[in-house]
Amino acid sequence: MKTSLTKSAIVTGASGGIGRVVAKRLASDGFAITVHYAGNPGKAEAVVAEINNAGGKAVAVQADVAKSADVERLFEETLKNLGSVDVVVNNAGIMPLSPISKGDVEVFDRVVNTNLRGTFLVLAQAAQHVASGGRIVALSSSVLAKSFPTYGAYIASKAGVEGLVHVLANELRGRNITVNAVAPGPVATELFLRGKSEEQLAEFTKMNPLERLGQPEDIANVISFLAGPEGGWVNSQVIRANGGFAY
Ligand code: NDP
Repeated sequence: MKTSLTKSAIVTGASGGIGRVVAKRLASDGFAITVHYAGNPGKAEAVVAEINNAGGKAVAVQADVAKSADVERLFEETLKNLGSVDVVVNNAGIMPLSPISKGDVEVFDRVVNTNLRGTFLVLAQAAQHVASGGRIVALSSSVLAKSFPTYGAYIASKAGVEGLVHVLANELRGRNITVNAVAPGPVATELFLRGKSEEQLAEFTKMNPLERLGQPEDIANVISFLAGPEGGWVNSQVIRANGGFAY
């Protein structure tokens, strides 16, 4: 664990599978961390404890990313607690599946609210508060390239995320801030594993030529690179970290 905690990062959804590992990785890279969560304070506090026990600095902040007042408070509390916002990783997301033919607008609205509206609100605050030299990363998904049945709302929301990333990169011209998306393939977290049979998991595992599921660490490695000193020339890109699942 590096000790110079001069820079800070907000990781949304850091109570979840990928976000938890990203928060811990950025902490070990030397960032003070806001561990954001929505409904699982216990999981967020466990991440905070792990970081603080390892000599880092972290605080937990609750927010619904679909609510603008909550997202404003997330950034205010980070500035109050940690002094600056240098890196924002918008990782919070949900993936309920439903065929388009069913017309389940409740699922559609829920997915779009969390994944797309949530990203819009987090990127808006990031654009206002991230310091010069900072990095903004949003989570998309490699499933965009697959168009699997039942993924309509989810794919629509993540396509929107990729659009926002490219526009924001242009809007931040002159600020020395990069904006990128990371688009994982299947990663073994609750979001992906929930409701899948052994056969389905075996099928997904074989969809990439490396023949394994992604692990949160695979994604944290990429985000650490983008957030770190060597990632500074990568801007307005979608990095598909998926073992060859899709391009
Ligand atoms: P998890 O289900 O493990 O974690 C999701 C996180 O999002 C949790 O921390 C949860 O908070 C938070 N969250 C959910 N709804 C809201 C909300 N309304 N407001 C704020 N936070 C919310 O998912 P993963 O770690 O697997 O996914 C992380 C990101 O990676 C997502 O954006 C997902 O779409 C993307 N992704 C994942 C892939 C995979 O295969 N796992 C593949 C491609 C992309 P809490 O638990 O506290 O309620």
